[in-house]
Amino acid sequence: MELRNRNILVAGMERSGIASVEFLLRHGAHVTAADAKPFDQLNAAARALRDRGVPFALQKDGGFEEFDAVVLSPGVPFDAPEVQAARDRGVPVIGELELAAPFLAGRTIGITGSNGKTTTTALTGHSLAECGVPVQVGGNIGTAVTAMVATSRESQWNVLELSSFQLESTVSFRPHIAVILNITQNHLDRHHTMDRYADAKGHILDHQVETDHAVLNADDAYCRSFENRGSAQRVWFSSTRKLSRGAYLDNGDIWFNGEPVLPAADLQIRGRHNVENAMAAIEACHLAGAALPDIARAVRTFQAVEHRLEFVARVNGLDFYNDSKATSVDATLKALDAFDEGVWIILGGKDKGSDYTTLRAPLAKKARAALLIGSASDKIGRALQGAVELIAAGTLEAAVRTAYQNARPGDTILLAPACASFDQFQSYEHRGRVFKDLVHGLETTEHGTTA
Ligand code: ADP
Repeated sequence: MELRNRNILVAGMERSGIASVEFLLRHGAHVTAADAKPFDQLNAAARALRDRGVPFALQKDGGFEEFDAVVLSPGVPFDAPEVQAARDRGVPVIGELELAAPFLAGRTIGITGSNGKTTTTALTGHSLAECGVPVQVGGNIGTAVTAMVATSRESQWNVLELSSFQLESTVSFRPHIAVILNITQNHLDRHHTMDRYADAKGHILDHQVETDHAVLNADDAYCRSFENRGSAQRVWFSSTRKLSRGAYLDNGDIWFNGEPVLPAADLQIRGRHNVENAMAAIEACHLAGAALPDIARAVRTFQAVEHRLEFVARVNGLDFYNDSKATSVDATLKALDAFDEGVWIILGGKDKGSDYTTLRAPLAKKARAALLIGSASDKIGRALQGAVELIAAGTLEAAVRTAYQNARPGDTILLAPACASFDQFQSYEHRGRVFKDLVHGLETTEHGTTA
């Protein structure tokens, strides 16, 4: 798209929107910024754009149809009335990905899915770099795609984490390698139906050509339904059955195209879901030109992304894991799946209307106790009554202290709370950092007493 001297509106003034404004200014466009919030409630970086001559418009005042193009941030609904009005007038409405991707030098790996995007993107970036393949990583994680353009090089791969929000507004985006990890119920508030949500993810395949590749999860019904979508060559992975081509898990080993790659136990990221992420990353790296033995070495050295079943420390024979990102019951089930027994699990926070009874069986099998914190404590307690010993800890601090005092060497203390954090913390990241600080505090005390 020609950008010079075009009148372009950017809607949504958070990180992605601000990056889009900067990008458009660099490319000589006349940019207007819009947000649902009034100007004085915007963050400082957004307000600073006005000093650089960017006018501000309030989203509800409309007028989107007056522009040559509208760039939507992920937070702005694709079907908002102002956006629809622009589309009805034939004004192109695109996202940051569509805006920036055509300007990226080098080839692109796009990674999407309901769960595991961040881990798989980081693992793919780490492994390519360890294999000596030039790479830069961004998208939903870290650097916005618009901000990756200036540092992109012909010889380098761009590894992009992509959400369904970014993908739903694409009209021509074509990754050389597309990865879809899984498609499960998520974000239905925004996409309304499961089929529409799945369809948004499927956009990643639509503009691929015969020489491109699509890495897909053979165990996922939606991925299988994409078998003939787009023209790319399919590369499958499965954690449940052997495949004649592609990657699979068999007897604890990861195989690829009939060759053993590494034992899953050699991965530092735990749980079957992470084996799936690793298989997808191995396939993407191989398609990007890395050799299998190098990839096997590289994935072994990858450590969990912060707050995702992240190993924190071993204190006094007890292992502490931070899975603060486990804000749903499903994610907590995944976390429990990664451990055998002797688990002290910290549950609770702000309830999201979840049914906690599915935790009963794995907790009965694996947990010594569940330590309950935050406003969801009572509800979780009622759901788990009789399945596992319950400790009403109230706060994260009390939970960590109580677990530490009562656990035996070899036990695991796991924060995987199955709830949002907003009752006691600013975010799941904040909750995870407080947990880690508490654990490191124990370490200090421990060393203090034994030194
Ligand atoms: P995303 O970026 O898609 O949110 P993350 O890598 O941050 O994914 O992982 C978030 C949580 O999703 C993890 O803590 C784990 O509970 C769950 N998860 C990760 N990978 C998978 C997977 N392949 N399948 C199912 N659940 C997963």
